Amino acid sequence: MAANLYKSYSIRNYFEIPQMQKLSNSDNSAIEVVGNVLPFKTNNYVVDNLIDWDNIPFDPIFTLTFPRKEMLLNSHYEQIEELIKKNVPRSILNDEANKIRMELNPHPAGQKYNVPKINGTELPGVQHKYRETVLFFPSQGQTCHAYCTFCFRWPQFVGMNEVKFAMKEIDLLYRYLIENREVTDVLFTGGDPLIMKTKILSAYIDRLLDDALYNIQTIRIGTKAISYWPYRFLTDDDSDELLRLFERIVSKGKNLAIMAHFNHPIELSTAAAQEAIRKIRATGAQIRTQSPVLKHINDSPEIWAEMWRKQVNNNCIPYYMFIARDTGAKHFFAVSLVDAWKIFRQAYQRVSGVCRTVRGPSMSSTPGKIQVLGVSKVQDVDVIVMRFLQGRNPDWIARPFFAGYNEKATWLDELKPAFGEEKFFFESELEEIFHEHIYDNETENFE
Ligand SMILES: *Cc1c(COP(=O)(O)O)cnc(C)c1O
Ligand code: SF4
Repeated sequence: MAANLYKSYSIRNYFEIPQMQKLSNSDNSAIEVVGNVLPFKTNNYVVDNLIDWDNIPFDPIFTLTFPRKEMLLNSHYEQIEELIKKNVPRSILNDEANKIRMELNPHPAGQKYNVPKINGTELPGVQHKYRETVLFFPSQGQTCHAYCTFCFRWPQFVGMNEVKFAMKEIDLLYRYLIENREVTDVLFTGGDPLIMKTKILSAYIDRLLDDALYNIQTIRIGTKAISYWPYRFLTDDDSDELLRLFERIVSKGKNLAIMAHFNHPIELSTAAAQEAIRKIRATGAQIRTQSPVLKHINDSPEIWAEMWRKQVNNNCIPYYMFIARDTGAKHFFAVSLVDAWKIFRQAYQRVSGVCRTVRGPSMSSTPGKIQVLGVSKVQDVDVIVMRFLQGRNPDWIARPFFAGYNEKATWLDELKPAFGEEKFFFESELEEIFHEHIYDNETENFE
């Protein structure tokens, strides 16, 4: 395959996209207005292969990567539109955009309480919430090949492309993993860690393959590259080197799990994506898939059933269906817990057992990952049944518990315990955990 040149588009140059002429004036100004508040980045692969330009603005991948008017609340939209019309200096526009961003819950789900320490020093770029799994945010991996509109991120820093810096970060993580033998999994996340050059990524990963870290059995890499830039595995100048790195992990006897984000079946439809999957699988790596359920993108059982089936046909393993986090353009994307469960259930019924490795719909909330098992009736009382898939306390996992029925709720904090109980079974313990943490750890954090 010929080398493919990556061309990135943002608020600064989106008008260079050849297909832009298909946009109406109002869709065009929406990009300008919303794109000044929410991060906007797309690229030539997404634009040329995944978007149906005759279906704008409703096309799911257009909606996934391009700003649409409804993604901002009306009042916010008008505020920014006004400033643009007045042609105010960029710094004023940025200040106003920042104020709006602060109103959009930029740090959902208590992330700031998850930073571990080693001898009193905080580990940069590490979160440890669930006993077995440490999340690692390598500093050079905090951007993506394109941005998803449902994922609210401050413009992340790039350009610190020094192997030396990577070595220092990984050194602390290495020591932490030696002292915390209960950790079996390290999950590289971001942003997208595969935005990094292979050389930098290997500097991190090879260190984890050291014999002294016998507790590390799975290395996971969370990525959207198969969807947004499959050439990462095909024709980039260090694609082969990346696949060799994958082989090294596997030959060490470790499980390598590529945690691939797919939001819509169309992302699996191109020859490049399918070839990328084949190449990754040929290294011995597994690919596990996940996505939130999102209005305007994938809120129907047909889409999910097709997506899971296509993933399995390409030898990927469906893993999680998430509820969209309470952040950014949530009002635009939100699907209620009850509707998410209906979509899950109807999609699950349509596929065979090999696709039913998927779990969900799941909320990554402060106490843990909570799965909505479904709606039921107990002695005439309507309830929502849930359980923990992951918990701050492992003892919470896999115990069904009940909330009063609430058709509109989109997140845990809108639910109340059923049967007149004051608190959910985990709440007192959670408060205790947080008290301890509030006193020894108040730093702001990533994500
Ligand atoms: C989802 C998640 C993990 C991984 O959980 P698994 O159920 O093992 O996939 C680890 N840490 C955090 C903070 C998470 O949200
Ligand atoms: S981190 Fe994942 S969800 Fe967020 S913009 Fe990047 S690819 Fe999309």
